[in-house]
Amino acid sequence: MNFRDTEQEAAFRKEVRAFLEKEMPGGFGKASGPAAKQDDAVRRGVDRFGVSKEWTKKLAAKGWTAPAWPKEYGGAGMTVMEQFIFNEEMATARAPRTGGIGTGFAGPTVITYGTDEQKSELLPGIVSGEDIWCQGFSEPESGSDLASLKTSAVRDGDDYVINGQKIWTTGAQFAKRMILLARTDPDAPKHKGISYFLLDMKSPGVDVRPLVNMAGTQGFSEVFFEDVRVPAKDLLGEENRGWYVATTTLDFERSSIGTSIAQQNQLEDLIVYVKDRSDGSLNPTVKLELAERSIEAETARLLSYRVITLQNRGQVPNHEASAVKLYASELNQRVATTALKCVGLYGQLDRNSEEPESAAHRYAPSRGRFMRSYLNAVSSTIAGGTSEINRGVMATRGLGLPRG
Ligand SMILES: Cc1cc2nc3c(=O)[nH]c(=O)nc-3n(C[C@H](O)[C@H](O)[C@H](O)COP(=O)(O)OP(=O)(O)OC[C@H]3O[C@@H](n4cnc5c(N)ncnc54)[C@H](O)[C@@H]3O)c2cc1C
Repeated sequence: MNFRDTEQEAAFRKEVRAFLEKEMPGGFGKASGPAAKQDDAVRRGVDRFGVSKEWTKKLAAKGWTAPAWPKEYGGAGMTVMEQFIFNEEMATARAPRTGGIGTGFAGPTVITYGTDEQKSELLPGIVSGEDIWCQGFSEPESGSDLASLKTSAVRDGDDYVINGQKIWTTGAQFAKRMILLARTDPDAPKHKGISYFLLDMKSPGVDVRPLVNMAGTQGFSEVFFEDVRVPAKDLLGEENRGWYVATTTLDFERSSIGTSIAQQNQLEDLIVYVKDRSDGSLNPTVKLELAERSIEAETARLLSYRVITLQNRGQVPNHEASAVKLYASELNQRVATTALKCVGLYGQLDRNSEEPESAAHRYAPSRGRFMRSYLNAVSSTIAGGTSEINRGVMATRGLGLPRG
């Protein structure tokens, strides 16, 4: 097996590296220490978008906010392999990420199913980074069984009227638009009565209530809809065919690669941390665990190569993408657990920006980053499809086992 870049790929990698070296915003990158400043910026929230705006502009000028998109829509028209190289270099350099749901899967779905009017109205704001998008799919009673969703959309003149509730909507409090699934035909079989809308979050009747997660951050929200009017022009695809549009969105969501590099970075930081503080001895169990995690991080990398190779050949990864997601998310939790073992009881401390002189602030290892990673890792085996659902996909579609 040959994992080396072709001449063309090596030249592209060099171009990305040179760009990152020159243009990376201050406070980011390996030289700044183990991503601690990046964590600070993200936690401050406001700065996250402040940094992103300037950085996003630079990336957008090269079409690199949406590397996979066709050039006519402001992307860079990269091949699958170029995207992978680009993501790999961005992650390795610890460059701040841009885009998210907009460039990752809302925009690509609009490109696939949108009218010319929808594309020209919505895509420029995504590519420029001005418009943040969120995904209103899950509901309190409909997560894994998404097609059972109950939020309703009833046609009334030139509008649809939306009533119901979404939950776990990442970034809803910042979003300008939502990709929204709602039931337009309650009498049809569950997959056949759903429509897909591109909702303006400023519409009257939309109520966003942020939820605080166990790491203390407001990552996602509950979103309530009370008689929200959505113009019919904001229906994506055909009425009652929204489920099939949504599966395209989910395919784009599942095929986004990059986590394995993030894990290798985290492990690298941890090893640096342990070496820096070691007085020549280390708990032997922890030492062996670190060796185990490093083998697993390499396995995760190779699994993601498999998905990329399939995509590069024009095939659509299916159970292979589930395997990557499952393995990477569970590894995320194992790495975080090992990290806490390395830092011991100090791992309970978080640095406190309001009280920089406090003992907690001073003694929190890596400014509390390992502890926060541990808390955040819990949800990684739930978000974007739970481990049980992914194992089910692998068992039935991958191994051909019966469904029942
Ligand atoms: C951090 C985070 C961010 C998220 N962001 C978004 C977002 O932006 N937009 C959005 O729409 N949603 C989002 N979600 C929601 C996410 O998609 C759902 O949480 C997920 O699909 C699981 O659904 P659920 O929480 O309703 O759990 P349920 O589906 O109720 O599952 C409960 C348990 O039952 C198991 N289970 C369910 N069905 C089966 C089955 N058939 N076989 C075996 N076991 C089963 C599950 O694995 C799980 O352990 C986010 C979730 C998290 C954690």
